[in-house]
Amino acid sequence: MNATEAKQKIETLRQNLEQYSYEYHTLDAPSVSDYEYDKKMQELIKLEEEYPDLQTPDSPSQRVGGKPLDAFVKVQHDIPMLSLGNAFNDEELRDFDRRVKNGTDAEVNYVCELKIDGLAVSLKYEDGIFVRGATRGDGTTGEDITKNLRTIRNIPLRLKEPVTVEVRGEAYMPKKSFMTLNEAKESNGEEPFANPRNAAAGSLRQLDPKIAAKRNLDIFLYGIGVWENDPTEAHSERLEKMKELGLKTNPEWKKCNDIEEVIDYVNSWVEHRADLDYEIDGIVIKVDSLDQQEDLGFTAKSPRWATAYKFPAEEAITKLIDIELSV
Ligand code: NAD
Repeated sequence: MNATEAKQKIETLRQNLEQYSYEYHTLDAPSVSDYEYDKKMQELIKLEEEYPDLQTPDSPSQRVGGKPLDAFVKVQHDIPMLSLGNAFNDEELRDFDRRVKNGTDAEVNYVCELKIDGLAVSLKYEDGIFVRGATRGDGTTGEDITKNLRTIRNIPLRLKEPVTVEVRGEAYMPKKSFMTLNEAKESNGEEPFANPRNAAAGSLRQLDPKIAAKRNLDIFLYGIGVWENDPTEAHSERLEKMKELGLKTNPEWKKCNDIEEVIDYVNSWVEHRADLDYEIDGIVIKVDSLDQQEDLGFTAKSPRWATAYKFPAEEAITKLIDIELSV
């Protein structure tokens, strides 16, 4: 491919990805699979690396999420809510480990967590009282969805200690609630939701909280935005502390001493993900030490101290099995 062809290809990929991102993040109605989106994004990133002159800050490869809807009151995040870098196989996980070790000198421990497929939200507590909930939006500006989040029973309205903290997590729709909802939609002649992720996002981004209240949504909290007098030194301590405060964290997380242990954890979930009663689309791997996280810092779009291993899409697995069977 020459430079002119590369420029045209980059342009087409950017237009496609912008459209898909708008449908997915703003309308909660994707027209292509995540697998297809991720493949196009990888192609764009590779071309932009090959032709650095063609890189631009407004490329979808540099941007987080989607534009907040005007119907909602806007919320400025004190610390941006970013995306995550991706790894699609064991070798890319080892590359991530090499990059981490280049950016920090001491020994590195990781925390692995399930990557819940829902909507990223921020919950703000003042002196232990839940005061505001927001979507990630474009990373800097989200939508105020406090009233909808109050309908989720597992979000405590008061923490067990009077702390001022902004926690982050994933609101999701359990598989069972999703099936019941889509059955009801179909019998009413309405368009069903594409998947539990879009159903959760579509339910929380409604102006009438009665809708969210009927949808049996749930939440897992997995991180901290801002914490006044933060008593912790490691991400694993934060997960423990959040639980003590009464926040619902996912119990399947694991501390790993090296990347091979991470890879074993990832592979065990490739097999067992279907047993869960909620959907996950991968595993998130985070450097445990907060000092090391600070050393590593962020790119414009994601932290350098974390990555998301993305599971192969179900249709890709089926294709692989078909190929293997036909050989
Ligand atoms: P991402 O989904 O790859 O990862 C970042 C998100 O992971 C965070 O914002 C957080 O919400 C979530 N997450 C879940 N569990 C977590 C945990 N334990 N710890 C930390 N974070 C956790 O990135 P993204 O920017 O949110 O979205 C991009 C992805 O969305 C794409 O890779 C694609 O899969 C999908 N997408 C699909 C379409 C489509 O048309 N099908 C369009 C746009 C995006």
